[in-house]
Amino acid sequence: MQLDLLSIAAHPDDTELTCGGTVIKMVQAGYKVGLLDLTGGESGTRGSAALRSKESARAARVMGISHRENLGLPDAALEHLREYKLKIAVKIRELRPRAVILPYWEGRHPDHYTAGQIGYEACFLAGLSKAPLAGTPFRPYKIIYSTLYVPSLRPTFVVDITRQFEKKLKAILCYSSQFSSRKDTQNLFPSRSDVRERIGALARHFGLMIGARYGEPFVTREVAAVEDVVTMPVKSI
Ligand SMILES: [Zn+2]
Repeated sequence: MQLDLLSIAAHPDDTELTCGGTVIKMVQAGYKVGLLDLTGGESGTRGSAALRSKESARAARVMGISHRENLGLPDAALEHLREYKLKIAVKIRELRPRAVILPYWEGRHPDHYTAGQIGYEACFLAGLSKAPLAGTPFRPYKIIYSTLYVPSLRPTFVVDITRQFEKKLKAILCYSSQFSSRKDTQNLFPSRSDVRERIGALARHFGLMIGARYGEPFVTREVAAVEDVVTMPVKSI
């Protein structure tokens, strides 16, 4: 397989929530996009791993991606284990993505930032010819970090997902087990009716930064190169 883009995330639904609009946009642009979920989300308060697996397959169909798989690493227990990094690296060699989306390397949930950290190291390991791994050495060209779970962070860039927003919402709502039917439930498990408002508020916040309706934020470690400073997007004043 030769993917254009691979999103690696800790739990099923993380990609949908943090960068689902971008994934859909790249599918619509004709790119071959895949998702690699590291854990089954079995330690989550709601929904079994089996149920979340069904939900994630449904969401994959909504997004129109070419490939989705779950690595089956332990939920709520992602660690800096060489074994885990090698498992991810093998997948990178198999899927050969030109670009990779990882969760930002700091944050509240240890699984999220650990996925970002071991994901990065796996990308590096995948390119080492002497690494004890099956497959041909391969390293993604580009790594970008999704920062929606750390909204206080100033993004390096924002992707306009205005046209993809409804589909992103539809993909998120595939995860019925994660939503409460009760209207009064607060915080972690919003009611279905509250989902649109929450997802919309965040997307609107980042969209405003680039003069769009809805957006998703990203950070890169390296700076961006610009060819033409005259037609650069995003209004300054
Ligand atoms: Zn998560």
